[in-house]
Order: sequence, then C-alpha cells, then structure tokens
Amino acid sequence: MANQQQRPSREQRKLQSRRAKQRHRKPWEPNGDKAREIAIAYFLRMHGPRLANGCEEWQGPVSKDGYGFFNIGTRKYSAHRFGYQYHHRVKLRTEQHVCHACDNRKCISLEHLWIGSHQDNMRDMIAKGRAAWQKKRGVSAILAEVQELDERVSALASMPRLVKKTAPAVPAESLPA
Ligand SMILES: [Zn+2]
Repeated sequence: MANQQQRPSREQRKLQSRRAKQRHRKPWEPNGDKAREIAIAYFLRMHGPRLANGCEEWQGPVSKDGYGFFNIGTRKYSAHRFGYQYHHRVKLRTEQHVCHACDNRKCISLEHLWIGSHQDNMRDMIAKGRAAWQKKRGVSAILAEVQELDERVSALASMPRLVKKTAPAVPAESLPA
C-alpha cells in the first residue's frame, strides 16, 4: 500500500517519457495529446458521405484555393492530407504531396488520394489542364478571342470606306519630303 503512494522511480519516469515520445511520433493515434484527439474527432465529424462518383467531400471549412482545412489551437491541418495520414497510419514527409485522382479538392476519399512529389502533382495538374496559367488562358478562351478578332477583321473589310473616312487626315506639311 505504501508503495502505491510513492512517486515513480527515476527509471520509471524515464521509461514513461520515452513511451510518451514514441506515442508522439504516431500522430494518427489518440495518445493523450488533447489537440491531436480533438483534431481526429473533428476530422471524423466533418467526413461527408460518399457521393455517386465515389468522392467523399470535406464538410468543414474550405480554403481560398478550394482545399478542406481546419485549425486546432495554433495548428492548421489540411483535411485531405490529415485524412490520408490518419487512415493509412503514416507520417508523410513535407516533400510528399497528397494528390487528388478525382480533381475534387474537397474530396477526402482514400480511394481518390495518392502520394506524389511536387513534380508529380504539377504534371498531373497540367495533364488535367487545371494549372493556374492554363485556367487563365485556356484553349477555349484563346479560340473565343481569335473568333472575335476574325469577326472584327471581316467587319472592317466589309466597310473599307468608313475606315478611310474615319482615319485622321495627315496634314501635307507634316509628311517627310
Ligand atoms: Zn474524389
């Protein structure tokens, strides 16, 4: 009885702290870290139902660029990245990107997420034609511009006199000799 009231020995405390550190290396498991437990609970609550196309959309906040995220304390979590790590029980390195096979940035379905490098992600984006620069000047936008120019050119060609009339007259003395 007296033993139970004693403080743990130095060795026991060392072991405890080592175990705590080991637990800390597995962020996908509830480990007594309150913030982590809250994060997992919140993530599971915001997990949307499976849609017809197989996507499972994040129901929580969405960032400006369309990805699901959430904040616990001072930490910001990316929803699809957190989900991948939580369900696969892995800790991803910074250079490992969680990419979407379905192109739906809100999607957190495990079947639609894959791991790639930054290059993989960019290549995939370009293949799908959703890179920012492509979005700005997509093929359809360029074609529309060309068509508009064509129409203007043919409109001008059909009224050459009007063009001549409205062109400003150049005074003879300003012309080079
Ligand atoms: Zn999806």
